[in-house]
Amino acid sequence: MHIAVLHETGEVERRVAAMPETIRKLIALGATVAVEAGAGAAAGIADTDYEQAGARVADRAAVLAGAEIVLAVQAPEAATLAGAAPGAWVVAAFDPLRRRESVDGYAAAGLEALAMDLMPRITRAQSMDILSSQSNLAGYKAVLEAASAYGRAFPMMMTAAGTIPAARVFVMGVGVAGLQAIATARRLGAQVSATDVRSATKEQIQSLGAKPIFVEGVAGIEGEGAGGYAGETSEAYRAAQAELVAGHIARQDIVITTALIPGRPAPRLVTDAQIATMRPGSVIVDLAVEAGGNVEGAVAGEVVQRHGVTIIGHRNMASRLAADASALFARNLYNFLSAFWDKEAGRPVLDAEIGDAIRLTRGGQVVNPRLQS
Ligand code: NAD
Repeated sequence: MHIAVLHETGEVERRVAAMPETIRKLIALGATVAVEAGAGAAAGIADTDYEQAGARVADRAAVLAGAEIVLAVQAPEAATLAGAAPGAWVVAAFDPLRRRESVDGYAAAGLEALAMDLMPRITRAQSMDILSSQSNLAGYKAVLEAASAYGRAFPMMMTAAGTIPAARVFVMGVGVAGLQAIATARRLGAQVSATDVRSATKEQIQSLGAKPIFVEGVAGIEGEGAGGYAGETSEAYRAAQAELVAGHIARQDIVITTALIPGRPAPRLVTDAQIATMRPGSVIVDLAVEAGGNVEGAVAGEVVQRHGVTIIGHRNMASRLAADASALFARNLYNFLSAFWDKEAGRPVLDAEIGDAIRLTRGGQVVNPRLQS
């Protein structure tokens, strides 16, 4: 079983899909591993580190030649994978609901695309869940980015020269990223409040010492939501939420938005008129900016000013912590491959529950039910 690890080519991508540690373990399973030269450089891993772990380091063509499994952080276009074995697995994040044409390219190339970002949220797959591992780091980093762009301190400080009040931080969307954002802002000493549409998050917000801001009297989404994900809420709920948030936002110094709905554009949560009510010098970080944005006026890949408020729209926030993000991503991939490793076959063999959920293409066809339209 020959495994290839690619050098990422995506814009603002500093992560890498394998670490020396995971390569040693893959080799222990019986695989051979080749890493594209320079693949780990942006995450602080030298080619020699990979070589010491037992991998061969070479150029892309040599690494891909005969590869039966290709590992990447962001799936590249299939056309760039010439030389891989027929039917080779490509294990990566595909963002398939938004990049349908790219998936068609995988089918045409006869490759088997396995979208780690469609991993089902079941207990045994938690250690393989790239969305969780990366969102957690993104939530943490979002708060640090906000703190450094903010011209004031986060904690209350009582000094001989006078008292500095604690910053008020509002987190919108309390999934994995939002929970980590709350925890990080609390550790920095801010006064934190948070909101979500899933009622189960109320208790989670409280348990982190933050204040829940929830629409009362209009049903949002009960409990955890299907598979832990939010769906669209009713129009009445959205109107009540907008009104509640409008009053609250005017008193916030920092807003971190993380709200996503799988397969849909991100919900719009903050309007330009609401931004105008915030104190100049306030900071908003929109972690959903690549999915269309929660914040009006946020621009993917840019930091913009609106009404004296800084709106941070960094792409790929997890990549800003490339070393840790790579380490966790690489372990997710290793946990996945090793959980299904079949000693006799000398390769992983997927079961239906996970295989059917993440497999996008096979035998020249697009096979994922979520992509059948
Ligand atoms: P996500 O990235 O899809 O969305 C982020 C958050 O935005 C969610 O909490 C969602 O409810 C919220 N949101 C959507 N629309 C909103 C709106 N209009 N207003 C406010 N908030 C809105 O979600 P996620 O971070 O990937 O995870 C969601 C849940 O799934 C979490 O509870 C997490 O613990 C759970 N989870 C479970 C597993 C597992 O069991 N294997 C793995 C990962 C996540």
